[in-house]
Order: sequence, then structure tokens, then C-alpha cells
Amino acid sequence: MAKRSKKKNSASAGGFLFGIILIGVLAVTAIALLKNSESEDPVPDGSDVVHNTQTASSTETGTDETDQKTTDQISSATQSSSDSKTDKVTDTDSATSSSKNTGTSSTPPTDNTREEYVSKNDTASFAKDQWYMLLANPDNPVPEGYTFEQAKIKSAGRDWIVDARCAEDLKAMIAAAKADGVSLILCSAYRTIERQTTNFNNKMQEYINKGKTEEEARAITATIIAVPGTSEHHTGMAVDIVTPSYQSLNAGFDKTAAYKWLEANCAEFGFVLRYREDKQHITKIIYEPWHYRYVGKQAATIMMEEKISFEEFLDKYGA
Ligand SMILES: [Zn+2]
Repeated sequence: MAKRSKKKNSASAGGFLFGIILIGVLAVTAIALLKNSESEDPVPDGSDVVHNTQTASSTETGTDETDQKTTDQISSATQSSSDSKTDKVTDTDSATSSSKNTGTSSTPPTDNTREEYVSKNDTASFAKDQWYMLLANPDNPVPEGYTFEQAKIKSAGRDWIVDARCAEDLKAMIAAAKADGVSLILCSAYRTIERQTTNFNNKMQEYINKGKTEEEARAITATIIAVPGTSEHHTGMAVDIVTPSYQSLNAGFDKTAAYKWLEANCAEFGFVLRYREDKQHITKIIYEPWHYRYVGKQAATIMMEEKISFEEFLDKYGA
């Protein structure tokens, strides 16, 4: 009661205080994000944001699902950040070269035509109703009620959830990289639609509290947080991968030995570089050298060899 009347009496002071607190919270969040790149998609993960706007604007990607994830994950991320720095092997130049010797045996002969390759393989495996062919993008949200068996993978001191059907391949990929002296650490995996909905709504409410109408608030929020259901992370088949020496989610990751290893070897484990730099007009997602998607080994081999997007692959080979 006393507090409430005091507030009324000093509305401007209250507003000022609120402003200060808001700035403080934003600053803390920003610092936390900068420090902890393995909080879920700390900074730019366009895969989660751009969906709303249909345009791959890097400014929008900055906020991503960060808002949703940071609050309860920053502490664990901080922990894992230090853990990973101490107990993980840092990338070495030699890792890159040695990686090329491992596991490219499944690559189809390049002198064959694609048709020959596909005909020799099981093209039925590219049927769009195969679980690993599920397309999630701005135009194709994850089907309502989509579920899968979850599996946990430990990385950088915490558990990550992925679709159990690709968990073993993911583990094998991380182990193979390690054997080559390359440390791959997960910084994002499965995210629930519910969680994203909650965070979307929370963000929207912030704008409503600032005096926006619900419609206005929704429009503004959609430029900041992915519309629930449109993130590929909802499938349980997408992971964000970094390395101890470079944990920022930005294009610079592609200069690391970890990226080079992934580029050369991810297909062998059924994963693809999902958002290529030259395919942004198709994926509507910014270049994300850290974001990998499971599509099965055959499809991955083709996609990585032809350097095409999942969308293009489905157009060309999907049945
Ligand atoms: Zn991602």
C-alpha cells in the first residue's frame, strides 16, 4: 500500500528507475551473451529468427532465441564454457589435414553422374515422409504435435536433447573429430515449441506494457523472435556446433579447424551444413557455419558434395 502510493507520487522517478533496471538487464544479458556462446544460440542464429520476416536480415538474427534461452541457461553455459576450455583439446592445424584421411570412404565416385549414383542407391530413402527428410523452414513449420524419441548427449558439461534416431551418429561424429584432434562442442540442440511460445508471448507482453497494441506488439516481436514452430531446432535433428577456441556464432567460425573438419566429414555421419553462404536467398536464413542438420548419410553425401541446400535437394531428389 505504502509502496504503491509512493510509486504514484514519484511516477517520473519510478519511470527513471525502471529505465535504469531495463538498461541493466539488457547490459547483463548482452555481456552474458558475449561471454557465453554456448548458451543456446547466443547471438546470431538466423535459423530461428529470420523465419518470421522472410528476409535474412542480420540485425534481426542478433536476438534470435537468445531471449528465450539465456535466462535459465546462462549459468550452466558459463560453467560449461570454463569446463570446455580446460578439458577440451583445442583445434590444431594438423587436425584439419588428418581429418581428411578419416571417413570419406562413403563419398560416391565423382566421375559418376548423379543419376548413376542415385540409381545405384536407394532413392526411396529420399522420400519426403522419411523422418530425416522433414523440412522445417519459414514456409514449412514443424507439424503440430510433432514428437520423437528423445536422447541426451553430453557436451561441454551439460545434456543436450536430440532425436534418438540421430543421436548415435552425432556421438560418433564428435568422437571421430576428437580422434582427429578436433574438439566439437554443442551449444544448441532441441528446443520445444512451447518454450518458444512462452518466450514469444513474454516478449510481446513487454511491448504491450510499453503501450503498444497487441497487434503492434506481435509484429515487433516477430522481428525479434522466431514464430514458434518455424525453427529447425524443433525437429531434434539440428545442432549448433562450436569449438573451445571459437565459440561465437558468426561467420568467423568457418576459419576454424573444427569447421573444416565438419565440412569434410559431417556427411559421413548424416549431417549437413544447413545454411550455406550462397544459399541465403533459398533458405531465407543467414550463413550459419555452426548449424548442422541430420538428413541421413546418403542425402548428406549428395548435399555436401553438390554444395546445395536441403530445399534444393528435396526439389531435385525428394520423392
Ligand atoms: Zn542453429
